[in-house]
Amino acid sequence: MPMSDCLFCKIVSGEIPANIVYETDQAIAFFDIDPKAPTHILIIPKVHYDNVTELTRSDVALAGHLLDVVTQVIQQETLIRGYRLVANTGPDGGQTVDHVHFHILGGRELTWPPG
Ligand code: AMP
Ligand code: ZN
Repeated sequence: MPMSDCLFCKIVSGEIPANIVYETDQAIAFFDIDPKAPTHILIIPKVHYDNVTELTRSDVALAGHLLDVVTQVIQQETLIRGYRLVANTGPDGGQTVDHVHFHILGGRELTWPPG
């Protein structure tokens, strides 16, 4: 069920606009509004789950679908030198939007470890 106070549910419903780069029946990918790399895309399921732990507990097939969407997006965006896939989870993980999402970061050489 969509969560009325969830930013990403509002992007799914079209209530808040987003720059969508890829879409399936179950997921959308859109550019992050505050990019941390030359290419910074978020991938979300259309159905609300709070985080990657809840998603994987509830619907492992959808979790797999999202990873397939990652592959489609990195091919479409030609991130041939690589990319970083991130799922910030919970307060200690730095999650600020509680609708599960994967960040794809690429287009430059990324440093490790992150802060
Ligand atoms: P996180 O901090 O891992 O929960 O990631 C949330 C991400 O959502 C951040 O990178 C934000 O820049 C991004 N974000 C917040 N609002 C929007 C929006 N309206 N459209 C696109 N990205 C957004
Ligand atoms: Zn949501």
